Amino acid sequence: CHGVGDRSEEESADEMTIFKKIIDKEIPADIVYEDDQCLAFRDVNPQAPVHVLVIPKREIRSLADVVETDRELLGHLLVVASRIAAKLHLHDGYRTVINCGAHGGQTVHHLHIHLLGGRNLDWPPG
Ligand code: ADP
Repeated sequence: CHGVGDRSEEESADEMTIFKKIIDKEIPADIVYEDDQCLAFRDVNPQAPVHVLVIPKREIRSLADVVETDRELLGHLLVVASRIAAKLHLHDGYRTVINCGAHGGQTVHHLHIHLLGGRNLDWPPG
């Protein structure tokens, strides 16, 4: 998932990501859930009435970088996403998405689950 070329909108490989700064409370976010392993906050550019990002506190660049020992953490992120969806009354359904790498459209290189809901979502994606 390491990019090449000039992609000015994206973060460079070695810089601290914006999500790490949110974890460290260096920049503000609208946090909806937090525990020792993960953080969930509202996306700053929401694509649906509810758009929350669930991220591990540990820095994992992307889904392509996960290892066997991340199994429990990855499961935890999905359980948290499910709980948040219920808490935010997404009773009519919702979508979870993990974008990975350039073709997946990942721009922030810290693994995150998008939780989208509150409207009818189109499928397939573009
Ligand atoms: P994309 O940027 O194409 O949606 P990603 O899957 O990497 O790709 O998603 C990154 C998400 O992070 C975007 O939805 C973006 O709006 C969101 N985002 C970026 N900066 C912040 C921030 N400071 N606070 C909350 N969300 C953010």
